[in-house]
Amino acid sequence: MPRLRVSIRDVEIGGDGFVVIAGPCAVESEEQIHESAALVARHGIPVLRGGAFKARTSPYTFQGLGLDGVKLMRAAADRQDLPMITEVLSERDVEGMLPYVDAFQVGSRNMDNTALLKLLGQVDKPVLLKRGFAATIKEWLLAAEYITVGGNEHVVLCERGIRTFSNETRFTLDLAGALYARQQSHCPVIIDPSHATGNPRLIPPLAAATLAAGLDGLMVEVHPDPSVALSDADQALSPRLFSDMMEQLQRYAAAAGRPLTR
Ligand code: PEP
Ligand code: MN
Repeated sequence: MPRLRVSIRDVEIGGDGFVVIAGPCAVESEEQIHESAALVARHGIPVLRGGAFKARTSPYTFQGLGLDGVKLMRAAADRQDLPMITEVLSERDVEGMLPYVDAFQVGSRNMDNTALLKLLGQVDKPVLLKRGFAATIKEWLLAAEYITVGGNEHVVLCERGIRTFSNETRFTLDLAGALYARQQSHCPVIIDPSHATGNPRLIPPLAAATLAAGLDGLMVEVHPDPSVALSDADQALSPRLFSDMMEQLQRYAAAAGRPLTR
């Protein structure tokens, strides 16, 4: 199937290059997001991620800074001249976020929010659609069609782990499912090994596997100081691990003849 190329500003996903999207789980403060954006830029990463509207498992934990967080992130991304992507939780927020974001992320918990998907089918920004953690591939691909039938073809699929009986890792990364989805769809497919495993030590080898498997890219969580992170602290890559991972990926990319997109 001819691969659709989806551009987040000038960063093409689904082309020859392998695209790494990185940043903190959540935007926590002005200082933290600027530090994160600088860290990401220093490693030549082309797209910044970060959550301002957070879909947390517990309502008693940090829920994100909302639109103020989106604005802080925009400023941090601009300072590094990076495009940025952030999650939208509700139809209510789409219009307000639109002027600030380069792409919308739909999280695992919202994959079957058809009202949100339909609305995103009408916006002129790309959408990264995460797989619901209890969704079949067919359900995931149909969710993507809720966006594309509305006229917005610019959808990137992201496998982020599914629920299985195995609970040693946070979820179970369905690499085969991601490859199958890529065969069945013309959308680019990327992997989020951070949420899939919940374990920073497992992220670098799965990042390499994603590249070797011929998928289109990665989304990973990195924090300037994971010990003080307000969300998903346990799975955040430290600057050290992140740096090691990028160095290793660079070597694998060279061996595979597949450039890392800058
Ligand atoms: C995220 O990427 O910030 C996130 C909440 O991920 P997921 O929707 O996959 O849980
Ligand atoms: Mn997270």
